[in-house]
This record gives sequence, structure tokens and C-alpha cells, in this order.
Amino acid sequence: MNTLPRFDTQEVFNQSPPYEDIDLYSSDLPLQEAVRVNGAGDEASALTAFGRQWGTAGMFAAARRANENTPKLYTFDPKGFRRDVVEFHPAYHEFMRTSIAAGLHASTWTATGIRAAPPAEVARAARYYMAAQVESGHLCPITMTRAALAALAANPALLAQVAPKVVAASYDPAFRPWWEKPGMTLGMGMTEKQGGTDVRANITSATPAGDFYTIVGHKWFLSAPMCDAFLVLAQAAGGLTCFFVPRFRPDGSVNALRLQRLKDKLGNRSNASSEVEFAGAYALRVGDEGAGVRTIIQMVQLTRLDCGLASTGFMRMALAQAVHHCRYRSVFQRHLYDQPMMRAVLSDLALEVEGAVALIMRLARAFDQAASDPREAAFARLVTPAAKYWICKTAPSFIYEAMECLGGNGYVEESILPRLYREAPVNAIWEGSGNVMCLDVLRALRRDEEAAEFFADLARKSALLVGAASDLFAPMNDFESEAKARITVGKLATLAAAAALEATAPPAVTEAFVRTRLQRQHVALYGADDIDARTTDTLLQRALPEG
Ligand SMILES: Cc1cc2nc3c(=O)[nH]c(=O)nc-3n(C[C@H](O)[C@H](O)[C@H](O)COP(=O)(O)OP(=O)(O)OC[C@H]3O[C@@H](n4cnc5c(N)ncnc54)[C@H](O)[C@@H]3O)c2cc1C
Repeated sequence: MNTLPRFDTQEVFNQSPPYEDIDLYSSDLPLQEAVRVNGAGDEASALTAFGRQWGTAGMFAAARRANENTPKLYTFDPKGFRRDVVEFHPAYHEFMRTSIAAGLHASTWTATGIRAAPPAEVARAARYYMAAQVESGHLCPITMTRAALAALAANPALLAQVAPKVVAASYDPAFRPWWEKPGMTLGMGMTEKQGGTDVRANITSATPAGDFYTIVGHKWFLSAPMCDAFLVLAQAAGGLTCFFVPRFRPDGSVNALRLQRLKDKLGNRSNASSEVEFAGAYALRVGDEGAGVRTIIQMVQLTRLDCGLASTGFMRMALAQAVHHCRYRSVFQRHLYDQPMMRAVLSDLALEVEGAVALIMRLARAFDQAASDPREAAFARLVTPAAKYWICKTAPSFIYEAMECLGGNGYVEESILPRLYREAPVNAIWEGSGNVMCLDVLRALRRDEEAAEFFADLARKSALLVGAASDLFAPMNDFESEAKARITVGKLATLAAAAALEATAPPAVTEAFVRTRLQRQHVALYGADDIDARTTDTLLQRALPEG
């Protein structure tokens, strides 16, 4: 007879229920207000449907599967013939299909390759930010596809052929020529072994061969290598030039892109990033010889916006997970959510997300209006690198702090926090790393007197908000000092966030933001600031309404 007492660990208590089957839009007040203020309020019901679709338990499970089952490169077939194909888990393809069906890859363009009317950027930005909260790896080719049309404008005949395929809401992962597919995706290749930032050090060469060019050389990073075509920089006789390099030649044969291996990456694991050699690859020129940087920078400006959007999304998801868990978890007979020090941490995290959401959505509006309003174009030029720098740099430490709010549960792989944490640094590194963003802002400030005046004006307005002397908020240096550029650019981004918050958040939230991020140096230790109890309540309710 068994005399052992019954022992069963299946009775689970004092744990939070899974954070899933949520509406990512309706549960996010700062987002809703930013959407409305920036002109996309009419999209609210469509965004709610999107938020519900992406917040299901099924989507979270698919994201886990796509990242656990990483892509695999097949360089050769069993007989030694080259294949150069990458296979992805079906969950990855499903994300591609879903995002493309929702237009994340192209809803800001028309079929003729011109910009869609406002508020196309803001509406897409809201969707992109929600999608990034769930699965970010597949957003790499989504981002590159939507951005590539901006560079392809430099070859109108090619744009006319490609744009209808790009804007089609159809994903076809088959390895066949782009012109035979209902829809297509685009990637980009700039970085070589000897230089990523310094693309002028590219040694890959391009030689004219009648009405096309042949490319010989390599790229050290070429993400999403199963895209249908890539925009690639190579040296032609006239200098660094942008080229359209498809996976298939016009005669239907496979183009000479030799995928060498896939990078073994810290995060971004559902997505493949390859090293590639071009062995006389067929290419079409995009823009003049020697105009490569000028051409491709049109694309890069858009990808930088997406880096900021994705990192804001990561922070939002980390915050929501933290607030949700703390509402259920008791320690010392009291919910963590009600413990004063935890409230200080959570509200400070919420304040950071408020600033990031307000700023990035305001920036999306500038992209919407840039074509018709030169001031908005100038805003986008100056604030895009500043926002990318500030938001993408903030995300890793932010996510770590949110992870700690869940204690040990936050550290284990079944929770989404480790994936968000691993994912975050890449947004700061690619599309122009932190220092490079700062140099870019300095360049704009030095060249454009109006940009410097805009900066000073932001400082005056923020100072007024808290009744401080405006010189306290003034730009820190004369825009000549590279050594101090991070101070200048961090300040510019924070001032722009404060100005954006004024339009989207209650005055107490904006005031708390200015006081803790501008009047004092924020010490990157969340919860070490003095946010009053009332504002704390407001922030937490806005972060994740109780109910
Ligand atoms: C996962 C992943 C996927 C990628 N996919 C692609 C892709 O699809 N296509 C593509 O073209 N590239 C891709 N990249 C490459 C990426 O864009 C580059 O790594 C990035 O631009 C930095 O270039 P680099 O690695 O050569 O670093 P470097 O240029 O050597 O820079 C190293 C560091 O020096 C800093 N720095 C540079 N110049 C200065 C300066 N003047 N003053 C002070 N600091 C400076 C930079 O900010 C950076 O922190 C990918 C990278 C990763 C990690």
C-alpha cells in the first residue's frame, strides 16, 4: 500500500495568466492618442482588428516557433550543383504572408511607385509597431521591400515594372523569377568585410555589358537572401553606384549570387542574414554612376524610421508584460503592482514608452507630409537619425529592467522577454550605428540654420513647460564637437519627444517627462526618479488599463 502523501505540483497559484489574446491596439492608450493626433484617427476600427489579430495566443506561439526553428542554407544539391537557397520554418512564411496581406511592405506606395496620400505613413507605423511586439525577424524583408521603392525612383522604367509587383498584397516564397510571381520582396546589400559604415570603401565592382552590368565581389551582410531582388552598391567606372540585382537573370537562369553561409546571430533568429559572393551577377543600374550613396540613402531614411518603430514596439511589449505580471503576483502578501518601489519602476518605464511612441508617431506624420510641406521634410531629415539613435539605444536596457519585474519568469525562454532582449541591439547597429546617427544629425545641424533654430525653439518650449530657464535646455554644444555629439543628439531626441508628448499625453505626463529626462539627467536606472503618486497612477492606467 502506498503511504506517501499526495504530491502534486500542478496546482499553480500566485502566477500571472498568460499575456495573450489581447487587443494590442485598444489596450494601448498612448498609441491610440498618437494615431489620432497624427491624422489617422479614421483607421481606429481597422487598427483594432489588426491589434486583435496580432495579439492572439496563436500569433505568439507562431512567433516562438519561427525563432526556435531557424532558417537553413542549402548551398549545394546532393550532386554538387549549386542551390543557394534558404529554407524557413512555415511559421516565418505565415508571418510574411500576414504582414504583406496587411500592406506593411508597401501600403505607403501606389502601384505607380509614388507616395500614397496621408495618413498612409501613420497608419502603417501603428501596424508595424504592433507587429514588432509579436515577431520582428520577418519585418527585416518587410522593411527593406517598402523602403526600396524610394531608391528605385532613380530608374523610372524599372520602377514602373517593379512597383505593381511590390504593392501587390501577395507573398510567394517560391524560388522563381520575380516577373512570374504575383508579388515580390526586395533586400539590400551595402556592407562589405572592410567597411559597413564607410560604404565608399566598397571594392565590389560593376562592369557594363550592353544594357546591363556584371557584378563581381561580395557583401558581408545580406539579410533575407530569398528576397526576389536586391539593391546593391558597387564600384562602376564613374564611382560607387546603386544596382538592382535579381535572383534570376532575364533568361530565367539563376543569377550568380553565391550564398556562402548564414550568420549565427544573437537575435533576429527567424530571419536569415547571409554572406554572399557575386560571381559576375546580372545587374541593372539604378541612378547615375557615382550616385550610389545619394540613391540608396532615400531607402535608408525609411529603414531608419522602421528601426525606431520596432524598438518602440519591443519596449511596449516588455512594459505590458511587466505591468500585467505585477498586477497578479504577490510578494509579502501584497501585489507587486501595489508596492511603492515597483510602482516607481513601472511608471518610469511607462514614461519612457510614452515618449518613444509620441516621438516615433510624430515622425511618421512628418514622412506623410514631407512631400507637400518643406518644414515637415526638414523635420524628418533631422529627427529620423536622432529618434533612431535615442530609441534604439534605450531599448536593450529598458527591456532588461522590464524583464526583472517578472523575476525569474522573465529570464526563461518560454517568456517573450529573452527574445525581445536579444532582438533589441540590432536595431541600433544596422542602418547606421549609434555614433553614425549622431554624426548624421551634426551634419544636418551644421548645414541648415533652420534646423539649429528648430532645435533651440524646442528647448525654449520645453523649458516653459516646467518653468525652467531656457538656457538649461539649450543645445549643449556648437555642433562642431563630435566627442559631445551623443549629448547633443540625445537632447534633440528627448526635446522632440517632449514636444510630441504635449499633443498626445495629459500635461502631468509631459511635465514628468521633461522634469526627469531634460531638467535632470536620466540615470538609466528606472525607478530612481521622483514621479508623484498621481502621475504614476495615470501612467500605469495608460500603459495597460485595468479591467
Ligand atoms: C543581423 C544583421 C543584419 C544585417 N543585414 C544587412 C543587410 O541586409 N545589408 C547590409 O548592407 N548590411 C547589413 N548589416 C550590416 C550593418 O548595416 C552594419 O553592420 C552596420 O552598418 C555597421 O557597419 P560595420 O559592421 O562595418 O561597422 P563599422 O562601420 O566598422 O562601425 C563600427 C562602430 O564604429 C562606429 N563608427 C563608425 N564611424 C565612426 C566615426 N566616424 N566616429 C565614431 N564612431 C564611428 C559605428 O557607429 C559602430 O558602432 C547587417 C548587420 C547585422 C548585425
